Amino acid sequence: MRKESQTTRDAKAKRIKGVYVHIPFCLSKCAYCGFYSVPLGSFDVDVVLEAILEEARVVLEELSPPYTLYVGGGTPTCLGNSFLDFLERLLNILSYAPLEFTVEANPATFDGSFLKDLKALGVGRLSLGVQSLDDNLLSFLRRSHDASTALSSVEVALSVFDNVNVDMIFGIPGQTVNGLIQDLKRIVSLGVIHISLYGLSFDEDTLLRKWEEEGAVKPVDDALWRDMYLQARDFLVSCGFRHYEISNYCKNGKICIHNMVYWSHRIYIGLGPSSASFDGRRRIYNPKDLETYVEGVFKGKFHRKEDVLSDDELWEEKIILYLRTDSGLPLRKLPDGLRKKVLSVIENMPEGILLAGKGKLRMNPSYFPIFNYVVSNLLAKLL
Ligand code: SF4
Repeated sequence: MRKESQTTRDAKAKRIKGVYVHIPFCLSKCAYCGFYSVPLGSFDVDVVLEAILEEARVVLEELSPPYTLYVGGGTPTCLGNSFLDFLERLLNILSYAPLEFTVEANPATFDGSFLKDLKALGVGRLSLGVQSLDDNLLSFLRRSHDASTALSSVEVALSVFDNVNVDMIFGIPGQTVNGLIQDLKRIVSLGVIHISLYGLSFDEDTLLRKWEEEGAVKPVDDALWRDMYLQARDFLVSCGFRHYEISNYCKNGKICIHNMVYWSHRIYIGLGPSSASFDGRRRIYNPKDLETYVEGVFKGKFHRKEDVLSDDELWEEKIILYLRTDSGLPLRKLPDGLRKKVLSVIENMPEGILLAGKGKLRMNPSYFPIFNYVVSNLLAKLL
């Protein structure tokens, strides 16, 4: 077989589009969750799945390969066989097989035979929300599983899929650096090749934010946050993981191609309530309300909102997104004037925070815990 040249691979990578499908059902609501989801049983699942398929028929009519497909939510796997039927029908609407096909799952919402059915439909990557292996922290976060269920779900997932991601959270009140590292050790020892490690955020309209406003909980302090992030990073890198994005680690080159579509500012299409799409200039939002979404789709009105981004806003987004990755910001992509400004601003920044070399600008990972602070300072001087 002829090997693809680097140029062919790069050209292909630039054309990749992402398709995201939002399944808005969960067993229950986690305390920190800012995603749009409703408890299973509160809305007719069949009606929602039918609406998403109808939206797919309209929106994906002209989709051409290569593209990635990511079905998340929510907890798609809590829908059982209805979800398998849905995927089969969705794949019939798409004329080409996806380049990468990920499904999100939560512990205790699947068994091995269900995962084999997913695999038979072409799913190649499973992303599993574990978050912690400490029962007290899991119960604080209002997760619907305990640590032992999470571990057995990871094992079942790995018995069917090679490419399994595990989502973990750091910065949980009551969590220690040692506890976090022990959790990561157990996950790594199972053979997982992708880990997403997110800092706990106190988002609007979450139970966690309410507890914070009532004074019942406090975010962990900055020093502990930094320690957790950096020690977890050191540990995962020492285990052979590549830290390829601020919150993401992989082995064997198995980055999440779908998420790279977002971080490289490429085009993506969102289906389902609350999903977003980006066409290179406009960001288009589906309604975050099931009634409005379903009614809109069936009446052909969709009720979408859109933001048209100015050139400055587009550059701002690109700079933020590229700096999240270990590939960094390719300086040649910037217009001449902006590139000169970037180079002069970083010359006047304390040494070692942003690193320029080989035509790229990268953030020193030691400063990732204060990423927002560094990047907003940079942008304030640029645009
Ligand atoms: S399982 Fe995931 S999507 Fe569902 S409520 Fe919890 S964090 Fe949100």
